[in-house]
Amino acid sequence: MLPVLSSPDTTPRGRTLIVVGHGSHLNADSAQAACAHARSLRASGQFEEVLEAYWKEEPSLRQALHTARYREVTVLPAFISEGYFTEQVIPRELGFDHQGRVPAGGVTQQVNGKTVHYTRPYGVHPAMTDVLLSRAREVCPEWEAQTTALVVLGHGTRRNARSREAIENAAQTLAGTGLFARAVALYLDEPPHATNWPEFTGDLDVIMVPFFASEGWHTQETIPAELGLSGPVSRIGDRRVYYARPVGTHPDVRSALLQLVREAGGTAPGTVDEAHAHAWDSLEKAASVGLTIGELRIEPFPDGFFDLRNTADVERNDLKALRVDELNAVTGRDDAGNHRPIRTRAGLPRGWLANVSRVDLRRALHAVYPTLTEEASAFEEGALKVTPWHETAARQSGLYRRVQRATPPQLQSARETICSGCLRTPLWAGEHLSTTFLNGHPRGLPCAEACTLLVSEVAHLLEEPQP
Ligand code: SF4
Repeated sequence: MLPVLSSPDTTPRGRTLIVVGHGSHLNADSAQAACAHARSLRASGQFEEVLEAYWKEEPSLRQALHTARYREVTVLPAFISEGYFTEQVIPRELGFDHQGRVPAGGVTQQVNGKTVHYTRPYGVHPAMTDVLLSRAREVCPEWEAQTTALVVLGHGTRRNARSREAIENAAQTLAGTGLFARAVALYLDEPPHATNWPEFTGDLDVIMVPFFASEGWHTQETIPAELGLSGPVSRIGDRRVYYARPVGTHPDVRSALLQLVREAGGTAPGTVDEAHAHAWDSLEKAASVGLTIGELRIEPFPDGFFDLRNTADVERNDLKALRVDELNAVTGRDDAGNHRPIRTRAGLPRGWLANVSRVDLRRALHAVYPTLTEEASAFEEGALKVTPWHETAARQSGLYRRVQRATPPQLQSARETICSGCLRTPLWAGEHLSTTFLNGHPRGLPCAEACTLLVSEVAHLLEEPQP
């Protein structure tokens, strides 16, 4: 067992755990599963710092390592299967040389002075077979092995054969236990198709368990509709069909996550990163006399606490008090309830107030304006690495590869659409910034590299017209 810490996040040596999710430019709920895993791992008390990072929203995967306080970092992909993201996108965005399948013990590399352990996605861990069984027991506490079949439902994709391996392994393992008359893996998007489940189960009762990361459109709508399920228990002909909740949201997933961290060797504490410590010392010093960052106002209190609120709310005394762990969800939407994948786009919601301790100030700012403090500090030190557009474009793959063909007017058009609503100054596009909020300029928010929302807009402009 890893030791349980009494006061996380304050020690001079420690480990940072970064939980990576896919996220979305459109849907705020997409990050919920990864966020829940991060919360659960934080609550375990086994890491001095637990951060989140996403591919399609902030905190951004590309900047994740800069926000890690410790030089010993474990990166855990909260994905249900292996594939394009876990094998190509995440390692590439982290600055890893490694591309391709991650071995059972993970991959360890030095990146920018940090020792980074990258694990496999949790879905492939053998412990997930027990989670699957727990989901089956929840929906059907007792079953007759001779008269019951297990159907493990996966999404499947023809683009990567390995995405189904975890599901097939789990079904095969359970087929060999004698707990079921039959155990099969069926898929939504490739054969053998889930809609053919009667062919594979004869006249047996059936327990169906979705091998999905979270509840969503598939688990709640398409699967029940296409498979003829009316709820957790359906009568179909003479047999009963039990429909379980997805494996990814089961609390025991935490055990698989912790085992992956151990197996990847990320258990030894590391020293604090000096650049990171300097950034947060600078922030705290600036905040100790009152600080405005974009649309955020920070006021100090003599007891060492800080008040955070929208700058437009400084005169209000009817604000809703938020805990630090509520800030991410609240500031992730604007006042109309729209998702804010890039947190520095104008539209920080109003009506809330967070009173946070010195220790929690970092977590609070990670929620409101992720990575900004580290980048502003690096800018002030002349150490911010700016990535020009052609480098960002050159490393894109898959559907985004076409952005390499973007002309200057197309890039300019995307910037007008996306960056004009953002409080950051796009240094990557050659714009000038003299100083930052750390030095008294509230709108001095540097942007060192085009974000995925901008890249996505460029890709959209280059879409082939449909016939
Ligand atoms: S690329 Fe544009 S929209 Fe994205 S963070 Fe930078 S300035 Fe903001």
